[in-house]
Amino acid sequence: MATNEFHGVVVTHPERVVFPDDDITKQDVAHYYDAVMPWFLPGVEGRPTSVFRFPEGLAQPGFFQKHPMRGLRHVGHVRLREESGDLDDYLCPGDASAIIELVQYGTIEFHPWASKADALEEPDYLVFDLDPGTGVAWHDVIDAARWLRDRLAKVDLKSFVRTTGGKGLHVLVPLHSACRWEDASGFSSAFAHQLASDRSDGFTATSVMSERKGRIFIDYLRNTRGATSVASLSLRARAGAPVAMPLRWQDLGRCASGNAFDLRNARQRIARLRADPWEGFATMRQSLDKATRTYGTSK
Ligand code: ATP
Ligand code: MN
Ligand code: MN
Repeated sequence: MATNEFHGVVVTHPERVVFPDDDITKQDVAHYYDAVMPWFLPGVEGRPTSVFRFPEGLAQPGFFQKHPMRGLRHVGHVRLREESGDLDDYLCPGDASAIIELVQYGTIEFHPWASKADALEEPDYLVFDLDPGTGVAWHDVIDAARWLRDRLAKVDLKSFVRTTGGKGLHVLVPLHSACRWEDASGFSSAFAHQLASDRSDGFTATSVMSERKGRIFIDYLRNTRGATSVASLSLRARAGAPVAMPLRWQDLGRCASGNAFDLRNARQRIARLRADPWEGFATMRQSLDKATRTYGTSK
């Protein structure tokens, strides 16, 4: 097998430099996704997934893409109704070959929906995307994630944390299968607004930039139909080739920043992992009943 072939997909131009400041090639990107595949694939498999493509590497502008491009042989697609009412095909990777094929097409980042193609109207997790404004210290972002965890626990919701590879953290809440988008978005909006009003010094639930200075924006808008958030273990198209890394809550305090994990050290970490840091995430079924009784639901 050629060394630039992964899961039956040949990666052309393996020597092409993708991250120019870090000397990371297309081959390195393919090799990375191949190495973390058992941990990465469950987060995108069978979900409508937008990809952030950089066919010429990061030296040239990239673009988000949600619809299938011509020539794909391994990547599945799902036909779905967009908010506009139109039916359209979305990328929907189903296996490791699909991931490598998307890498072959210049994908760096993977952004799945919070629902699967076979149950599009039933989100199976919530994402609270903590976005620190200018001047917010990293330890305050960690404290914010723990505060969300504790508030969620009080309404019987267990949560999981990951770095984004960028500036913040994501806190995810697995759901049971009867949740609808309006349940997910209604609760997460009400919850985010309540938290922001309880601690308006440090938090906001509005995306207005002037409100975000010195505060953490609790971005609940990932929980609407058609929204995406970056997949666990996805690379980010930013300097240093950072990675969105799922963590155990007890390891969060040792994490130095949102981009502490990158293509090189993520592989080492994965190789050393004995257990899934998100043990139970995929099979956990949680109801929003108590959460919605406590916080209500809002637009
Ligand atoms: P950070 O920690 O730096 O905020 P992030 O991944 O949370 O990293 P956000 O800007 O908060 O970045 O965006 C949250 C999510 O919204 C992204 O992970 C992505 O899935 C989605 N998103 C953001 N911008 C776009 C875009 N232009 N097109 C499609 N999806 C986007
Ligand atoms: Mn964010
Ligand atoms: Mn955001």
